[in-house]
Amino acid sequence: MDIQAALQSEDPAQMVSCNQLYIDGRWQAAARGGTFDVINPATERLLAKVAAATREDVDAAVRAARAQFDSGPWSKMSGAERGKLLYRLAELMERDQAYLAKLETLNLGRPLMEPTVLDVPNAIATVRYFAGWADKIEGRTIPTPGYFGAPTLSYTVREPIGVVGAITPWNTPAMIACWKLAPALAAGCTMVLKPAEEAPLTTLYLARLIEEAGFPPGVFNVVPGIGEVAGAALSRHPDIDKLSFTGSPEVGRLIMRDAAEGFKRVALELGGKSPQIILADANLEAAVGGCAMGLFFNQGQVCAAGTRVLVHRSRYDQVLQALSAAAEGVKLGDPLDPTTNMGSLVSKRQLERVSGYVDAGVQAGATVVAGGKRLDRPGYFFRPTIFGQADNDMRIAQEEIFGPVGLVMPFDEVDEAIRLANGTRYGLAATIWTRDVSAAHMIASKVRVGAVGINGWAPIDPRLPWGGSKTSGIGRELGWAGIEAVTEEKVITAVL
Ligand code: NAD
Repeated sequence: MDIQAALQSEDPAQMVSCNQLYIDGRWQAAARGGTFDVINPATERLLAKVAAATREDVDAAVRAARAQFDSGPWSKMSGAERGKLLYRLAELMERDQAYLAKLETLNLGRPLMEPTVLDVPNAIATVRYFAGWADKIEGRTIPTPGYFGAPTLSYTVREPIGVVGAITPWNTPAMIACWKLAPALAAGCTMVLKPAEEAPLTTLYLARLIEEAGFPPGVFNVVPGIGEVAGAALSRHPDIDKLSFTGSPEVGRLIMRDAAEGFKRVALELGGKSPQIILADANLEAAVGGCAMGLFFNQGQVCAAGTRVLVHRSRYDQVLQALSAAAEGVKLGDPLDPTTNMGSLVSKRQLERVSGYVDAGVQAGATVVAGGKRLDRPGYFFRPTIFGQADNDMRIAQEEIFGPVGLVMPFDEVDEAIRLANGTRYGLAATIWTRDVSAAHMIASKVRVGAVGINGWAPIDPRLPWGGSKTSGIGRELGWAGIEAVTEEKVITAVL
């Protein structure tokens, strides 16, 4: 089957070697022969049976990655050569972008437009951006006063950190896989990646493209599997040098504990409960449109989702009404229908989680002003939901729901807005809507988050560092910070 046929087919997942793992440049069944089911959440039908890696497979993948890093052709390749391979990968992704987007939609139940215009182009841009860095990872020369009277030459080299173990979530799997693999491979590391069990298909397809691009075997390995089995085997593996994790704080904590054992480097990209602050002078049309996107994009299953909308009291009723109208106007349904603007949640578990939080909000005294229930049809569809009368101390304001659920809360003074914005354990992103330039920058300087959008929700770009403070994580991906995260600086001093 070719890509065009796959795009038309009833079973496009046939292009992916679902029942095999990609280890040491070979597609192979899991050592114990196990598989797990991947469901199309918009239909509740089986999409694929995917090979389930266990400890033996993770071991084999780490061995392959280690051998290639220590002494394979990869270890001798120049940065320019690594960059060329990454550019080739970006071209192949571009060739198959429609397919990648469709696969993501089938696996996640999200409208096809979203991966088509955002995730897949961002993933491609990320690979290209880091391809450009591959031959520009330089050291420094540092003037020093000398050594017992003799002059010295001190310089640094930035070396790849080694074998990177990557564990990714299900919400934007292709994009996050590229956020991890592109800097690591650009810097000369090797990688073993475990995608989330809900959505491993695009990562497996990326492995096919990596193979086609001509990367040496063992440079990039994919071991789909259950978190507690394959994920835990990877995070506990003694021969991994760095763990790069994106997911929930609960699992992030386990990863960090595992990393402590062998002093592995660790990068954690965790959740969020991001505020969107609307000042009295904001352009309300733009603010409401941006807040609705921040709430409902990808069914709200976004780490940077702007779930707490803080509005100056003078505009509160207007914003509540307009956001409710925006929620009511969302067309839910078949994610492959181009007129659909919201699809299903990723799983039954996620649907139950979101419904449970909505019930908790009602019990706590908040008022549902739009949505609040699932659709009565197959698939895990949940209506976009807006809460009024909510309080920042409620569980729905403090805990990450990871669904299309937003709270609108009033404030009187800017200081109060900042206090509310900072009043959760998270610190990933914040958005500020105002025409007052100095107020915007003043608030931006006081919110404890990794990224601030002014008059625009969570702009992401491979050139901009991404990551959180507090419980939202440790470390930064993307930008030059993405290269620093997978390299170590060695200092060399010659006494002349
Ligand atoms: P999750 O933590 O349940 O799972 C993430 C990954 O960890 C999966 O691959 C899973 O299989 C694996 N895993 C589970 N248990 C494990 C264990 N014991 N040891 C090792 N690995 C294990 O998260 P999720 O539900 O897939 O994703 C949603 C979460 O991810 C949300 O909290 C969201 O905010 C966060 N997220 C953060 C960012 C960011 O950039 N900060 C981006 C996307 C998602």
